[in-house]
Amino acid sequence: MTTEEPKPQRELRLGADPNVNYPIKVQYCGNCSLPIEYCEYYPDYQKCKEWLEKFLPSEFDKVKLDEANSEAGGDDEKKRQKRGGKGMLKTKKKEEVQKLITVSRAPRGKKKSVTVVTGLSTFDIDLKVAAKFFGSRFACGSSVTGEDEIVIQGDVKDDLFDVIPEKWPQIDEDLIDDLGDQKR
Ligand SMILES: [Zn+2]
Repeated sequence: MTTEEPKPQRELRLGADPNVNYPIKVQYCGNCSLPIEYCEYYPDYQKCKEWLEKFLPSEFDKVKLDEANSEAGGDDEKKRQKRGGKGMLKTKKKEEVQKLITVSRAPRGKKKSVTVVTGLSTFDIDLKVAAKFFGSRFACGSSVTGEDEIVIQGDVKDDLFDVIPEKWPQIDEDLIDDLGDQKR
């Protein structure tokens, strides 16, 4: 790390700081007006994210990726994170994420079922892209329904064991866990 750690409290500073090379590249959030790296501590973080998505999509993508990585570890990961504090885990987080896809079938109406896929983002796969891909591959509805969840309208669970490794060669068939039938 060569950059200076950001100070937790903002100080009122008059004039140029001789220790800083201007211009500093700090991007401020239009929602909470803090530098965007502080947004996550702002109570209305959701609104901040919406603002980011609109005005700084590239930053929003980073935030999303970050969140996807930390969410993917499940409950244990979250608890550990709270205890250790966010900063400590920043570097470790990536390798701690367990890479695993799960697929399951859930009833929809009396005769139909949907297929639920989770874990794609543990392989750094863009969920929107994946949902689109499933939709056109199976010619049916498919959408992102959660932090790391895609629901495909139709029973295509068994096909996914071929389709996923074919589309994303980094995912071995063994890394896809069949949860069978699940209620939602
Ligand atoms: Zn903000």
